[in-house]
Amino acid sequence: MKRLQPPVASVLDLIGETPVVELKKFDTGKCRLFIKLESQNPGGSIKDRIARSMIDQAERDGRLKPGGVIIEATAGNTGLGLAQVGIPRGYRIILIVPDKMSREKVQHLRALGAEVRLTRSDVGKGHPEYYQDMAEKLAAEIPGAFYANQFSNPANPLAHEITTGPEIWRQLDGDVDAVVVGVGSGGTLTGLGRFFAGVSPKTEMVLADPVGSVLAPLVKTGEMIEAGSWTVEGIGEDFVPPNCDLSLVKKAYSISDRHSMLAVRDLLSKEGILAGSSSGTLLSAALRYCREQKTAKRVVTFVCDSGNKYLSKVFDDFWLAEQGLAEREQHGDLSDLVA
Ligand code: PMP
Repeated sequence: MKRLQPPVASVLDLIGETPVVELKKFDTGKCRLFIKLESQNPGGSIKDRIARSMIDQAERDGRLKPGGVIIEATAGNTGLGLAQVGIPRGYRIILIVPDKMSREKVQHLRALGAEVRLTRSDVGKGHPEYYQDMAEKLAAEIPGAFYANQFSNPANPLAHEITTGPEIWRQLDGDVDAVVVGVGSGGTLTGLGRFFAGVSPKTEMVLADPVGSVLAPLVKTGEMIEAGSWTVEGIGEDFVPPNCDLSLVKKAYSISDRHSMLAVRDLLSKEGILAGSSSGTLLSAALRYCREQKTAKRVVTFVCDSGNKYLSKVFDDFWLAEQGLAEREQHGDLSDLVA
């Protein structure tokens, strides 16, 4: 039974200590598959952890001064975390967000009081309208602005190394064979990889990557492909962020948008868990990994964010059909898709 907590002084005291559920309704072969509900953070995503960590660190370093400006390039969730932590502390928050991100996230950000500047999703690093390049330029133009830069800020992986990792370790009684993660900034991968390398060298880090992203092909072949495009939000990259230590990855899967969308719909219909599209990528990869194992293993993955942020997208049947992502291949069961 869930334990009741005494009242807390601020909603920010509810960041972290998220629950873990064992998935019983999927075919996991010989393995047990657990999913950590980062959607239960107050901002609805795993990014609350790093937002607090990056702001606290910048205040300690003096890079962020009272009344200062925080700038970030974000798929939305890091921005939400930064706004949630930063606005009550009196900071101005300016976020550069690629225009493919869901309406719900942008509305949530604006309602929180963040300034959102949308930019093109179809351009890569080096293009003046690329979201990260725009954020960096803006930060250089505004005197005293703090560019949080989740892609290279060490406070990002550190948050996972000192909070997410130890929580999983405790929740799974110190017995974890594999952790399946996606990479946006690489903070989750690198922080958890470092933590588990210390406490449990047997634990394998498994990468779940959208088709079109350069990361899984790089792990598998050592070669950098030209990036394509994908629909899932928050994961997949067209470059290797400084915070992303791919040497920690033991196995990598490229997952199509359709498999991600069907997996996250199945997570809701089979288990009652409402998750965002990147969680579908992780679940699909985790199921593949589980079914490939010859021995019983304990595998953990994440609900990175809440599906409430995507009700107009993956949970809208018309949107899914318009995107050509709705059809199941044969008998309408995810197991057919995960051969
Ligand atoms: N899932 C979602 C929904 C995200 O927004 C992000 C971060 N952009 C991630 C996963 C990836 O996490 P990380 O940045 O730690 O690699």
